[in-house]
Amino acid sequence: MTNNRRPLISGNWKMNLNHFEALKMVQELSYEVTRDDVDALDISIHPPFTDLRTVQTTLDSDKIPFFLGAQHCHSEKSGAFTGEVSPAMLAKLGVRYVIAGHSERREIFGESDELINAKVRAILAHDMTPILCVGETLEERQAGEAEAKVQAQLKAGLARVKAEQVAELVIAYEPIWAIGTGQTASAEDAQTMCAVVRSVVADKSGSDAAEAVRVQYGGSVKPTNAAELMSQPDIDGALVGGASLEASSFARIVQYRLHDL
Ligand code: PEP
Repeated sequence: MTNNRRPLISGNWKMNLNHFEALKMVQELSYEVTRDDVDALDISIHPPFTDLRTVQTTLDSDKIPFFLGAQHCHSEKSGAFTGEVSPAMLAKLGVRYVIAGHSERREIFGESDELINAKVRAILAHDMTPILCVGETLEERQAGEAEAKVQAQLKAGLARVKAEQVAELVIAYEPIWAIGTGQTASAEDAQTMCAVVRSVVADKSGSDAAEAVRVQYGGSVKPTNAAELMSQPDIDGALVGGASLEASSFARIVQYRLHDL
């Protein structure tokens, strides 16, 4: 079954690469990615905050058609929030996609569903697109609670977001046990959970929003498994961590459609 959703492959660099390394990475990536690739899909890169300006000027001056992304932001526009970066600041830099609720932010920095929802709404209010991450732990999966966990995270994360905004969002299903572990969900399990994500969106925001929303899979995506994951009907992209830190491996993921299944 075909759909009109444009795939989005996103590279989350996490706390890696300084601004010199970022410049080199973006240039290497631009040599590897072809016109056909950018015609076929969207590519976003999410460097650390300190690299954003360098990456933005490189994308602009070299006319590289990647979208600039950020890894998180605060929910307020400005104020006494030492160390934080506001959505308004990111928007001014030309950031298009902002990750919200990555499991590392939830687990290491204690971000709650309520805070993540505030961030999602703030990102939208600044005309950027949130990539809202959801996913279960290994214990939750083993206890048969994966669907319930993801449903609850989505309901909270999408609270007070209008249906037409939900349609524009990206939701990343990222099982926590698969992030950075080399252990990928099977394409079948990833599809099942991405379909659950779409059905929660349908219940909350209607069938048009569910048909339009892009759902990424994340968790040890590599050049060798990207094609099979991307062939699933409810998977519209990938959120890639480790494999986005090497230009050739990220480019091969972007080029998943050239690989045999
Ligand atoms: C991530 O950072 O969201 C991620 C999925 O990481 P990795 O690809 O390294 O598992």
